[in-house]
Amino acid sequence: CGIVGYIGYRQAAPVCTSGLLSLEYRGYDSFGIATLSPALSLCKHLGKISDAKTSANHLEGQIGIGHTRWATHGVPSEINAHPHVDRNKKIAVVHNGIIENYAELKRGLEERGVVFASQTDTEVIPHLIAEKYTGDLLAAVTAILPILKGSYALLILAEDNETLVAARKGSPLVLGLGDKEYILGSDALPLLEYTKKAVYFEDGDAAVIRKDGYEIYNAGAPVSRPVTELEWSA
Ligand code: GLU
Repeated sequence: CGIVGYIGYRQAAPVCTSGLLSLEYRGYDSFGIATLSPALSLCKHLGKISDAKTSANHLEGQIGIGHTRWATHGVPSEINAHPHVDRNKKIAVVHNGIIENYAELKRGLEERGVVFASQTDTEVIPHLIAEKYTGDLLAAVTAILPILKGSYALLILAEDNETLVAARKGSPLVLGLGDKEYILGSDALPLLEYTKKAVYFEDGDAAVIRKDGYEIYNAGAPVSRPVTELEWSA
């Protein structure tokens, strides 16, 4: 239902939890955070962010993603909470939206030996990325996006990889441009504490964000999106 991401010089987990708190108004049943240090660490909880904030905030690393879930496929539970990971627990994904052809994609993955941990539509995504990933996360994500039907805003991390990858189709996603840091959100609220400059992704965009810059692609070609001045105050 809500997503946040951070890459920069601060500890990412507290930035993600306070970002998720600013998205609480959308409603949610569970939440979770993943960080890179450069190993991937995960924390998922059923229930309120404020109750579990301390256990989420201890995760180490300056790159992180967070999610509040409003279940569409699979009951609200800790296992079904995002982030979802591939079988080697190297790739983590948070997702807003619905993957309409997940059942068919899941059958194909199961035939190739993947065992699913959750009942969500989302879990097909980290497994599909893992099949393509050889070190270039954006390339692996770009390779699988055309087979996903439905709507998504996605943030993706891979262990030992200093980038954050974002993609959207049909669900909003905005990138805040800070000073040597970037913060992402499903709306601008989580950004306001850090910056007033934002880039709204368009449908079909996939972006790679590093500590020192970002690039946006659409249908494989580099694109530039206007920088918007956010007007609200934090
Ligand atoms: N369809 C996904 C799920 O049920 C994501 C729901 C959301 O946007 O929170 O896990």
